[in-house]
Amino acid sequence: MIYLDNAATTPVVPAALEAAWPYLTSDFGNSSSTHELGLRAKHALENARAICGAWLDVPASDIIFTSGGTEGDNLAITGLALAYPRGKHIISALSEHEAVLETLRFLERVHGFEITWLEVDGQGNIDLAELTAALRPDTTLVTLMLANNEIGTLHPLPEIIDAAHEVGALVHTDAVQAAGWCDLRVGASGTVVRGVDALTISGHKIGSPKGSGLTYIRGRLAVEPLLHGGGQEFGRRSGTENVAWAVALSTALQQLPEPTAEAARVSTLRDDFISQVLGSIPQAALTGNPTQRHPGIASFTCAGLNGETLLLELEQRGVIVSSGSACAAGSDEPSHVLVACGIDPDVARTSIRFSFSHTTTAEELTTAATAFVSAVSTVSGLAQ
Ligand code: PLP
Repeated sequence: MIYLDNAATTPVVPAALEAAWPYLTSDFGNSSSTHELGLRAKHALENARAICGAWLDVPASDIIFTSGGTEGDNLAITGLALAYPRGKHIISALSEHEAVLETLRFLERVHGFEITWLEVDGQGNIDLAELTAALRPDTTLVTLMLANNEIGTLHPLPEIIDAAHEVGALVHTDAVQAAGWCDLRVGASGTVVRGVDALTISGHKIGSPKGSGLTYIRGRLAVEPLLHGGGQEFGRRSGTENVAWAVALSTALQQLPEPTAEAARVSTLRDDFISQVLGSIPQAALTGNPTQRHPGIASFTCAGLNGETLLLELEQRGVIVSSGSACAAGSDEPSHVLVACGIDPDVARTSIRFSFSHTTTAEELTTAATAFVSAVSTVSGLAQ
């Protein structure tokens, strides 16, 4: 089997599970307890927090452990929007993940926020001039993802951060797909998200278990918590901490390759794969920005073919991929991201996403490209 659905989820790396295991078994204490077991759990939790803080180049106390990307996006966006007194205007884009879109619709519906939805062009790019023009004295927050989970397009975070900070608005970025592929250092050493006010990561995209994640929120910022209770996580996220998953997440982060070299290495594989596909499948059209894109995501539409059937044909040939995003998969709705890019809904329904891991090889991608050609041939009824 060649697993090319890593943007949907990744297997847990053994080191993460091994590091977590004691905190599920022998050292199972509640990190708020004052006895020895509790202190051991507390020590492990704070060690994990320190590792995550160092990885992002931020103070450890700015890290909030969460249950994943959805919670992190909800916490950062709602938490900052409700606590930051600047106003009730937020800027985002229609190509964001549902975890962001639905959080913003909630703020609009229940708390009277006004959302400016930036349009994206055919490749999923925002227009920076449109963003700048949309910023207002009452803009509280700009939330734009770093790497799109369906089409891979990268948003220009340095320019977005500069523009928003110029007028005093905060910036959150959903970096769920970017971890391991882009430089996520928020501190002075960073290049892509330096100075961002809040950033969300999900564990299960990077070799940590499902249900693990973290959100960075700059320490001095007030956050209205989503979960009320015992005041854990600096009062920003109540609930007994999941020490094992925090340890797993910090270990998984440490296993990730240095992103700049890895991005260069995998982008070459990706571009070769895209060339093979476009060169041999006339119906295939690349979605997303051809160059400013996630190193490990290659996504296509195949006009006239049935996306779900293609997916099954690929699976029969041992290649596991997804049609659009996992969240949209299985539904008949065309991907909102592709529709936002102006792609005809019927064509959007034919989308196929190949997403690589840090261990994906050129040979695997050659096999996958051959399988794709054969699957398309079968689905279009041209098989000899
Ligand atoms: N944001 C993006 C860009 C994603 O791709 C995903 C998951 O696919 C999420 C948020 C949600 O993360 P989780 O599955 O950890 O809730």
